[in-house]
Amino acid sequence: MMEKIWAPWRSKYILVKDQEEGCILCNRIKQEKDTENYILHRSKSCFIIMNIFPYNNGHLMVTPYKHTTLFDDLKIEEGADLFATLTLSLKILKESFHPDGFNVGMNLGRVAGAGINDHFHIHVVPRWNGDTNFMPVLTDTKILSVSLNETYKLLREALKELL
Ligand SMILES: [Zn+2]
Repeated sequence: MMEKIWAPWRSKYILVKDQEEGCILCNRIKQEKDTENYILHRSKSCFIIMNIFPYNNGHLMVTPYKHTTLFDDLKIEEGADLFATLTLSLKILKESFHPDGFNVGMNLGRVAGAGINDHFHIHVVPRWNGDTNFMPVLTDTKILSVSLNETYKLLREALKELL
């Protein structure tokens, strides 16, 4: 059951990775094109980025700037900042999309289903009652009712209210 819930987000990032030199997440950090890259927020040691192959509307990733596979490489302050930023991402989603719940989790290592397995990231997926009824959870394709750009705009507005 968990695999059915957590697996769908991995495969398309593997495809992107093949088309791009280096680490996808490190590249996004350096590019300084936050709107184009759907980066919602940068904190001291981590950032919130939208997953462009979302499992559900508003699927976010919270990621440290530090290129590391395991969060135990993070300093205490970096871990605390990561947790605060994770909390912020939940608040932004609550404010803008009013989900009934969330899946929050990490796939550490390729064997665990990580699509970007050398730079760890926490997935935040908002869930609504009954969303599994219409989501084809066993496949990679699904219809999203809100476009990425529209979602970005709504989340940025919610962020402004919260900061
Ligand atoms: Zn990286």
